[in-house]
Amino acid sequence: MSRSKLVNKNARVTASINDLMQRLNDLYPDPKTELVYNTPFQLLVSVILSAQATDVSVNKAMEPLYCKGLGCDDILDMGENQFLAHIKSIGLAPTKAKNVLATCRILKEKYAGLIPSTRAGLESLPGVGRKTASVILGEIFKEPTIAVDTHVFRVTQRLGLHKETTPVKTEEQLLKVIPSTFLPKAHHFFILHGRRVCKAQKPLCNRCTLRTICPSAEQ
Ligand code: SF4
Repeated sequence: MSRSKLVNKNARVTASINDLMQRLNDLYPDPKTELVYNTPFQLLVSVILSAQATDVSVNKAMEPLYCKGLGCDDILDMGENQFLAHIKSIGLAPTKAKNVLATCRILKEKYAGLIPSTRAGLESLPGVGRKTASVILGEIFKEPTIAVDTHVFRVTQRLGLHKETTPVKTEEQLLKVIPSTFLPKAHHFFILHGRRVCKAQKPLCNRCTLRTICPSAEQ
């Protein structure tokens, strides 16, 4: 392929990803996590609790505690059993209660009750994996991350942004193609679009504003 053709092709790809991201930006101008929280610590706890559970179930259990200003010391004072009683309606509650208590002990000992601002620090906490760390780095520290959950994986695949099979590879590919000006909020674009329009079982292509540029649009 000649250099001019390559340049033209890359320019088209850049134009189309910018067009796609701009349409999502217009659709979701002020995207936010649907998890309720008042402090970075509370968001960390909620993201740990939200693994394989709905945001609604986490909010229902935690909002009353967050309204009272729940912090690291409060959970340590409660102890594991009492904390478990508060979160028992959330899936995998016993394991999550253990992890949150262990995380609180580390935060107290190493970070004066605050949350670490680095990926390594976050991923050293029990119950915090790559996806949780990416959510915190994006949401609290505004780093250009993209946490790949089931919605992000599905929607970006249907939009032709990747052909990967794992979250880590998908994240690498998305970070290459999505312009940094749309990070970290791109994460929310795809989650909101996946929940409201590009649903897992039956995407609502006839109502989707991306259908004219989506390779998977159903006619
Ligand atoms: S056109 Fe259909 S498949 Fe493509 S993003 Fe929209 S809802 Fe999803």
